[in-house]
Amino acid sequence: MIIKRNPLTWFEKLYIPTLIGGFKVTLSHFFKKKVTMQYPEEKWTVPEGYRGAPYLVKDEKDRTKCVSCQLCEFVCPPKAIKITPPGPEVNKERGNIEKEPEQFEINMLRCIFCGYCQEVCPEEAIFLQKDYSLTGESREEMIYDKTTLLELGGVKESSIKKWDKKAADAKAQQSH
Ligand code: SF4
Ligand code: SF4
Repeated sequence: MIIKRNPLTWFEKLYIPTLIGGFKVTLSHFFKKKVTMQYPEEKWTVPEGYRGAPYLVKDEKDRTKCVSCQLCEFVCPPKAIKITPPGPEVNKERGNIEKEPEQFEINMLRCIFCGYCQEVCPEEAIFLQKDYSLTGESREEMIYDKTTLLELGGVKESSIKKWDKKAADAKAQQSH
């Protein structure tokens, strides 16, 4: 089926009124308040509780809280977490029980910021923080290792104070 186009009127054929109409729209926006954000120089202020990238945290005494239980690795839907536990060697300063991971990696290309790792962690060792814009020049760069995760996570005061007690118990045992 051929649709017949309406022929242009003589006014439309002038084109000038249409051009002027376009300039008018441009000019009206020129004097309006700017609403465009100059990203990435400007960034959003995200609200409290925002679920951004997950990082490992240390306690207020600079101790890595993660004990390699691997629950987060198990529940992570896209399998973004890879933990290498420390093996039979255990940390005596923590009551000979706690195991700081040998390596802890999160592939940020896979992570969907779901928060399951934070939910499941029995040690309050991993938290979703406010970073929403992660960039890198290669895939390898987007796999954050333990050092990077701890640096980005910083210190978070814990409601779990068991390590102080365990350290005291370990000291007491050593002195006997
Ligand atoms: S936020 Fe979700 S996807 Fe990301 S590491 Fe944690 S469990 Fe995995
Ligand atoms: S971050 Fe938490 S859940 Fe994951 S291995 Fe460490 S202690 Fe376990």
